[in-house]
Amino acid sequence: MALMRERDGRRLHVKSKLMGESLISKSFIKDFKVAPQQRLFPDVNVIKIGGQSICDRGIKALPRIIKEITANKSEHKMLITTGGGTRSRHIYAIGLELGMPTGIIAKFGSSVSEQNALLVSTLLSPWGGIKIGHDEIMKLPTYFAQDCIPVLHGMPPYDFFAIPSAGWRVPVHRTDVGTLILADLIGARSCIFVKDEQGLYTDDPKKNSKAAFIPEISATELLSRDLDDLIIERPCLEILQASEVIDRIQIINGLEEGNLTKALKGESVGTIIRKI
Ligand code: ADP
Ligand code: MG
Repeated sequence: MALMRERDGRRLHVKSKLMGESLISKSFIKDFKVAPQQRLFPDVNVIKIGGQSICDRGIKALPRIIKEITANKSEHKMLITTGGGTRSRHIYAIGLELGMPTGIIAKFGSSVSEQNALLVSTLLSPWGGIKIGHDEIMKLPTYFAQDCIPVLHGMPPYDFFAIPSAGWRVPVHRTDVGTLILADLIGARSCIFVKDEQGLYTDDPKKNSKAAFIPEISATELLSRDLDDLIIERPCLEILQASEVIDRIQIINGLEEGNLTKALKGESVGTIIRKI
């Protein structure tokens, strides 16, 4: 390891291509050549089971989607994540009223989505469902070799360090974001969001009956439309634009039988949001 001292003798560097750089310079970053991102698990499908949209419906929605996951198990490797849903919203509302900072509210969200991960993994346990923690992600090959369906909660582990945003202390990076970051991390085959609507509309179809369905759109166009409400957390769009390994996400209605199977087959069910 070559050590180098600056000419004035003050700073000591280990020789590397990043030596002495701030790692902030735009021009340096633009010209720096990096290897393309490796896809660690390109045959794994990341599937988020919505909190509010699926888990909270309990027996009316979960057993059916569990059945569809298990029916696909022999053909597809699946890594399941879970949202928080109604119980998260309840504790978020209490926390906001009591002046809790973003990091505390994010912690609340993590623990509720973890409850749903326990629920979903327990329901899947006869077919190899197993609840895993974020530290176990790199053990995925072991879980799949043992015929497991790993389930982990979807909140990104920023927790106390959740990034505050102006005028709103609910963390903007929640379980949709965590799911997409996970898909990017592992270079997944697909990233599928199982919710309770056909997909993305021009507005929330539960509140606006005139909302029009959007079967396919690019993240860039969706960002430029600046819609008032979305079916997916807004930062997902920029994360998708930045991803080197994920070029689309798919949002499907998990209340309708067969949609997950179609999505796993690569069919264009629901809404596809393309990177470009
Ligand atoms: P999850 O359970 O995965 O967290 P959410 O309940 O947070 O899902 O988000 C899904 C909901 O978003 C839908 O049930 C729908 O009512 C609402 N929604 C808001 N805006 C839109 C939109 N533009 N298109 C479709 N659904 C929307
Ligand atoms: Mg949500």
